[in-house]
Amino acid sequence: MTVSAWTQPRVAIVTGGGSGIGEAISRRLAADGAAVAVFDLNGQSAAETAATIEDAGGTAIAVACDVADRGAIDAGVAETSDKLGSPTILINNAGITPFERFLEISRESFDQVMAVNLRGTFEFCQVVIPHMIEEGWGRIVNISSSSAQTGSFGQTHYSASKAAVIGLTKSLAQEFGRKGITVNAIPPSFIETPSLHRAADGGQLGDGIDQHIPTTPVRRVGQPDDIAAACAYLCRDDASYVTGQTLGVNGGRVIG
Ligand code: NAP
Repeated sequence: MTVSAWTQPRVAIVTGGGSGIGEAISRRLAADGAAVAVFDLNGQSAAETAATIEDAGGTAIAVACDVADRGAIDAGVAETSDKLGSPTILINNAGITPFERFLEISRESFDQVMAVNLRGTFEFCQVVIPHMIEEGWGRIVNISSSSAQTGSFGQTHYSASKAAVIGLTKSLAQEFGRKGITVNAIPPSFIETPSLHRAADGGQLGDGIDQHIPTTPVRRVGQPDDIAAACAYLCRDDASYVTGQTLGVNGGRVIG
């Protein structure tokens, strides 16, 4: 006997759903039975993820949206509500991961990293939580980064933004637990996505991705589906007693 993820239909929003981790999360939530709104800066990649879901028998729409643009967030959430129903699952995954030495980081670059990684997450929560309150149920998963836990050479702005996402997560969990809304964070480490390959190609990962396998306890590189599986668990009905947590999905690279 299988236990379904939800006792009633659910609508999920996944930001950055056109690529890498967000694409895997979108596909997984759809496979579990949610109708998924795939949000991405790149409308074409969002459309491709949505088409893959529909081809597999699921329900999805694509929404072109810059998470740093509050007007676009408002419009995208309203479109989701009109086309799929009230969103009660929110995965804040869109992110940018620049590598820049601390003394060379401009105010513009700092502001852009914060606008996408932190303010985008903050504002999506502000826009979607009222839908969750109305339904008396909600699941938010914020994709942070292991760099928030360990620091990351050449990524002070990025790791600061991702650490702030963990603080935001814990505070929201305290404020909205009584409304049936759980809020958790997943800080991934070393997941094989286009972003990780860009870092490797830019020489940011030493001699490359595979060089890090011997120092990873599970002896492999993480895959987007590893994050999707953890995320799917946190979104289920029966994860209702799990909130304010930071669930590392990192092959044991960061423990504790
Ligand atoms: P990815 O393959 O580059 O995917 C990120 C997606 O987010 C892309 O589709 C990107 O669109 C989109 N995006 C970027 N800026 C956006 C914006 N302003 N508005 C809407 N969408 C935007 O990266 P990923 O590795 O899957 O990363 C996903 C998340 O995991 C990020 O938050 C990242 O920080 C986090 N993370 C990843 C790893 C890892 O090892 N891969 C480790 C720690 C944390 P474009 O392609 O058009 O730019």
